Amino acid sequence: MSTPINKTIFQKIADREIPANFVYEDDLCFSIRDINPQAPTHLLVIPKRVVPRLGESTPEDEALLGHLLVTAGKIAQEQKLSAGFRLVINNGKQAGESVPHLHVHLLGGRDLTWPPG
Ligand code: AMP
Repeated sequence: MSTPINKTIFQKIADREIPANFVYEDDLCFSIRDINPQAPTHLLVIPKRVVPRLGESTPEDEALLGHLLVTAGKIAQEQKLSAGFRLVINNGKQAGESVPHLHVHLLGGRDLTWPPG
């Protein structure tokens, strides 16, 4: 999956150039523990192929995006989050996006308020 130049931090993690705490990996995506957790369980589900953000996804990304959601649900089960969990995708600066490589936050393990901040 290597891209020779200008790799995103998540590509570097996928290529094991930067360490991370992996909880899941398959051909299309991987999941790591967020380095700055906002809940007792805070994972990121990340596609290996770079889609910068949801708002720039295309019809060719449909299967990949579906795979991310199905995988997030499977990981939530494995992480024993049956009491509840939340998926978040921050799209753009105003929404708090800090890494331009699409990722799904999987949060759980505490009461999650609504509306989110
Ligand atoms: P966002 O702000 O939605 O783009 O989410 C990016 C997330 O990546 C943040 O929650 C960061 O804490 C997390 N993050 C950044 N660098 C790393 C890293 N090296 N390992 C794990 N998580 C990271």
